[in-house]
Amino acid sequence: MQIYIEKQAKNYPQTKNILQKFKSANIIWIDNYKNIFDKKIPLNTSLKPNFIVAKLNSNSITKAPDWYWHNNNQAYFLKTSLNCVFDCSYCFLKWAFKNDIPVYFINYEDIKSEILQKIKNINLEEKKEIEKNDYELKLEQNIKYKNKIWFYSSDYSDILAMDQISWFMQNFVSFFEKFDNTMMEVRTKSANIKPILDLWFVPKNTEFAFSLNPQELIKKYESGTSNLEERIKAINILLKKGYKVGLRFLPLLPVKNYEKIYSEFVKEISEKIDMKKISSTFVSGLLYTVSDYNNILKKYPKLDILYRLKKDDNLFFREKRELRDFFYKLFKSLDKKCFICLDEN
Ligand code: SF4
Repeated sequence: MQIYIEKQAKNYPQTKNILQKFKSANIIWIDNYKNIFDKKIPLNTSLKPNFIVAKLNSNSITKAPDWYWHNNNQAYFLKTSLNCVFDCSYCFLKWAFKNDIPVYFINYEDIKSEILQKIKNINLEEKKEIEKNDYELKLEQNIKYKNKIWFYSSDYSDILAMDQISWFMQNFVSFFEKFDNTMMEVRTKSANIKPILDLWFVPKNTEFAFSLNPQELIKKYESGTSNLEERIKAINILLKKGYKVGLRFLPLLPVKNYEKIYSEFVKEISEKIDMKKISSTFVSGLLYTVSDYNNILKKYPKLDILYRLKKDDNLFFREKRELRDFFYKLFKSLDKKCFICLDEN
C-alpha cells in the first residue's frame, strides 16, 4: 500500500491515526496534493497512491442550489474528502476530477470552525430579520428561526464507505448534536453501519439516508456498492434502534422494462421496510447539466442509459416526461410525502 501525505498535514491527530493504522504502508511525503491530484496519473503505475492525505485550505462548505431539496436557501454541501471507493457508472465524479485517487482532508477542527461560523452567521441574519418585524406580529406568527439548516455530507464521496480511513462519523455526528435547528445528511450506498453503531448514541441531528435501486441495476450500474438485501438489513437495524433513516431513490434509471423492474422493487421495499418509520424520501431521475452530459458521454460512449436521456431545456439532459411521471406516481404510492427533485411535488 502506498499513501501520499502532505507535509503540512503531518501533525494533525487524524494523520497520526492513519499512520498508526497503516503501519506497513509506503508513505511518500508531498508538498501539495494538487501536484498529484490535478495531474493525470496513468493507471496501474507503481507511483499511484492508494489514497492521499491533505489539508484543506479552501472552503469545505458550498451552498446547495435553491432548487435542491428542503425548499429553503440554507442548505450546504460539506466536503471532507474527494472521490469514492465505489464506482457507479453514472457518477459525476467520473469527470469531476482529473483522476480517481481518494483524497482525505484531515484538518477537521478548521472544517468544524467553518461550519460553526456559517451557522452563527445564518442565525444572526435571521435574528436581525425578526427584529426588523413588528414585535406583536412576531408573537402572533410565532416567528422563530424559520428554516432548518442542512448540511449534505456525501456529495464528493460516499462518506460512510470511507469511514475506515476518515473516522467521519466519530468526528462529525456528535459535533452536529450541539446545534438547534440544524441537520446533517449522511447519504450512502454502503451497508457497513458499524461506524454508526459504534457511536453508542442515537443522534437527533443526523439523518442516515440510504440510496436504493433494484438489485439487478445495482449489479449492473453501481459497482462495488452493497447489495440491496444488505442495505435493507442495515436500514432495519437502524430503524429498530431509533435512528433517523431516510430513503433516496436516485437516480431512477431509464432501463428497458423499467415499469416491471421498478414496480417489483417498490413492492419489495414496502414489504421489507416499515415506511411509517422512515424520516424522509427523495426521488430523482437521472439528469445532467448539458455540459456534464457531454463530458460523461465523451468518457463513457458505451453507457446505454445515457442514450435514453433527452435535452429537456437548455439546462438539462433528463428522462422524458412520461417516464418521470411513471416514477413519481409509483414512489408517491410508497410515500405520498416523498420529495421530487426538479419537478412539481
Ligand atoms: S456511491 Fe455515490 S459518490 Fe460513490 S461512485 Fe456511487 S454515486 Fe458516486
